[in-house]
Amino acid sequence: RLLEAGVDLMHFDVMDGHFVPNISYGAPVLKCLHAAMPDVYYDVHLMISDPARYAADFARAGANLITFHLEAVPDTAEEVIAAIRAAGCQVGISIRPGTPVEAVFPYLGVVDLILVMSVEPGFGGQKFIPTTVSRVAAIKAECNRRGVSPRIEVDGGINTETASLCAQAGASVLVMGSAFFKAQDRTALAKQVRAL
Ligand code: ZN
Repeated sequence: RLLEAGVDLMHFDVMDGHFVPNISYGAPVLKCLHAAMPDVYYDVHLMISDPARYAADFARAGANLITFHLEAVPDTAEEVIAAIRAAGCQVGISIRPGTPVEAVFPYLGVVDLILVMSVEPGFGGQKFIPTTVSRVAAIKAECNRRGVSPRIEVDGGINTETASLCAQAGASVLVMGSAFFKAQDRTALAKQVRAL
């Protein structure tokens, strides 16, 4: 149904009960999805404490892009990036709402995507934190200053209103959960958000 509605990618939230309080699912579930729908772009968001250890598992299971949290591996981010690349995937870096945006600046020219969390990671259905918009704008401005253009993704509390604000600030990938699944007409919603 998601594909019929016209989504561009599948965002796959992995939680380990350690980096975040909840446990979701792991590589075997991704493998099943990939087997059923091999042509989907799988955007895997690892909210886990040891992303380097599991990168290859998710790559083998069908991930196209693997995003990890800078807060999980503040001193070994370069190694995690290398591990994800070695596994054959594109690389994303994510920051929680409380982490200063400057933390990702050294990686803007290195990774394929910057994921700006607009809620505290670990739970669905949360309300969008408004300061996210200025955080996206600050990252976009720094990208422009450096002449690099990683995709900027926002995840958490995205609806048509917050999607529009994020797009204006420079985001090009918007993760929609509750608002999408509750929508009467998902096809129209996907079209509307893509047009932003
Ligand atoms: Zn996510």
